[in-house]
Amino acid sequence: MYVRPINKKQLLQIEGAKFGYALSQTRSMKRYNARINELRIPNCKHLVFLSDDYWRCAAKHYSMTIYHPVGTCKMGPAGDPYNVVDAKLLVHGLLNLRVVDASIMPHVPTGNTNAPVIMIAEKAADLIKECWKNTNNLNI
Ligand SMILES: Cc1cc2nc3c(=O)[nH]c(=O)nc-3n(C[C@H](O)[C@H](O)[C@H](O)COP(=O)(O)OP(=O)(O)OC[C@H]3O[C@@H](n4cnc5c(N)ncnc54)[C@H](O)[C@@H]3O)c2cc1C
Repeated sequence: MYVRPINKKQLLQIEGAKFGYALSQTRSMKRYNARINELRIPNCKHLVFLSDDYWRCAAKHYSMTIYHPVGTCKMGPAGDPYNVVDAKLLVHGLLNLRVVDASIMPHVPTGNTNAPVIMIAEKAADLIKECWKNTNNLNI
């Protein structure tokens, strides 16, 4: 069976998980009854809970977006085939087509995505108003 090698992000995840667990064991956190969720990741059940091997396995199998999918139309300079929109949210290579949603975020933010989406929409409204102010900017 092929076992995918661990990547840098997963290594960070493992260290983060171990740190989180260690934190939960401090006297201060115990005062608040902090404890680990003991539900085992199904594909890692055979490994010793909380061992490095367990965390390594968990990092490979625990994959979810926590409902924050982003990046399918990411913003970035033209030339990189993975970049879809420019800094004005205009689609590279097309005229006057903008993408205004979570998909333009190049990376998932650390926090929730709803407020940044609203901010992107506010910015887009300003960009569109600015464009309409000077109809020479419109190629229609
Ligand atoms: C269960 C859940 C919980 C979440 N909780 C939080 C939270 O607590 N805090 C937070 O900040 N974020 C939360 N999010 C994330 C947040 O809701 C999203 O990041 C945000 O709504 C993304 O906005 P969007 O405009 O990119 O996409 P959406 O809100 O998904 O809007 C896309 C719109 O396009 C429409 N659409 C799709 N295809 C077509 C089509 N072909 N033609 C016309 N219309 C189309 C859809 O009907 C929809 O209205 C949560 C998401 C989920 C799913």
